[in-house]
Amino acid sequence: MKKIAVVGTGYVGLVTGVGLSHIGHEVTCLDIDPVKIDLLQKGRSPIYEESLEPMIQENQKQKRLSFTSEYEDIQDAEIVLIAVGTPQQQDGSANLTYIFQAAERIAKTINHDVTVVVKSTVPVGTCQRLRNYIQDRTPFSIRMVSNPEFLREGNALKDLFEGDRIVIGSGNPEATQQVMEMYSPFDIPMMTTDLASAELIKYASNAFLATKISFINEISSICEKVGANVEAVAKGMGMDRRIGSSFLQAGIGYGGSCFPKDTKALVQMAGNVEHQFDLLESVIHVNNKQQNKLVDQMKERCGSLVGKRITILGLAFKPGTDDLREAPSLVIIDRLLREGALITAYDPAAMPRAKELFPAVTFASNVKEALMGAELAAIVTEWEEIKELPLSHYEESMEEAILFDGRNCYSLEEVMEHNMEYYSVGRPAIG
Ligand code: NAD
Repeated sequence: MKKIAVVGTGYVGLVTGVGLSHIGHEVTCLDIDPVKIDLLQKGRSPIYEESLEPMIQENQKQKRLSFTSEYEDIQDAEIVLIAVGTPQQQDGSANLTYIFQAAERIAKTINHDVTVVVKSTVPVGTCQRLRNYIQDRTPFSIRMVSNPEFLREGNALKDLFEGDRIVIGSGNPEATQQVMEMYSPFDIPMMTTDLASAELIKYASNAFLATKISFINEISSICEKVGANVEAVAKGMGMDRRIGSSFLQAGIGYGGSCFPKDTKALVQMAGNVEHQFDLLESVIHVNNKQQNKLVDQMKERCGSLVGKRITILGLAFKPGTDDLREAPSLVIIDRLLREGALITAYDPAAMPRAKELFPAVTFASNVKEALMGAELAAIVTEWEEIKELPLSHYEESMEEAILFDGRNCYSLEEVMEHNMEYYSVGRPAIG
């Protein structure tokens, strides 16, 4: 078992650190945010992720997992994983400030040869630069590995333990071997490659998934115009194994901390080597259009939205997380407020952060309360409790049941049994 340090305890760092301690490694997680570390030391998770908190507590109890904000506490680690944020800058490129700050501290702290594993999503060439940067600041030998992360928020632990693949990129066979050993208890196929290819695998994978989403969303717009049903079209397409059925759900666009920023960063990266990535630029454009779809539908239906009481169900960028980064809900609420609507919102996990962002919005404590007296309702995130709400609740709680379903949660047959107006994505309107 290995002595491991994880720098950055966000979604990726925390889940990875907890998972590695769970399979027996001795893990120290470090973050510069003292509030996070304080919570974690008390066995509380600063993020919402199913089963994470009990797993933190269990591994703390076994003395395999600890949390610190002091770099000195990680100086003995054999492997240092970097999982700090790489947010998007104004021009779309990745901001590498945090990663180089972490590198500088690691260089000053370590007291022996070490393997540095970059889990953060970084532009091609960054790991090589980072290696040189650390090496220039320490007498000890630095072995660099790119090990991009593919976990999905809301499903993070399952993805960690049962992921499709682990990508290990390095020019150093000893480091590759060390990282393969670290992950071996997971029993997940591992792929080894060079640093640059590993870095690009992450961007190419996210860009491809985003392309599938924008593609089916474009098909959904055609469906609406020709009277076809996008669900049937997607099902028929997905039965072809060359296409596959995942990521073919039409909706109001992708969001989150990865797809929007990684697609823009790849366009930027391509531009840096004088390649115009036309396809990916269109994918991004289609997604921006799609995030505005519900408000466009509402305006088409009602004309002015001034003073309209509108309920938004779901705020997180997807179910199972409290993450609001680049969530379609932000675009929708912002635009509705500018249109003069009166908004009530509900989300099972993301409301604390949303309250800070939108002081003008009323937040309800459950779905039923949120719908009470609403003139229009919109489903933005398909949480189970929202998806499974009987349609009779809309009839009972709203003045007139008018629902804009941005996630196609209900079958059209089901809707037709109720007295309501129903607008969804890529399917005929009802009512
Ligand atoms: P996050 O913003 O949730 O967490 C980053 C953490 O790093 C924060 O807690 C911050 O305080 C800490 N930090 C910043 N600078 C530091 C420093 N110098 N030393 C120690 N800690 C520092 O980020 P995240 O969502 O976990 O993403 C991390 C990386 O992983 C990003 O590059 C992201 O693109 C990538 N990624 C994210 C996901 C995801 O689903 N969130 C999935 C795959 C890859």
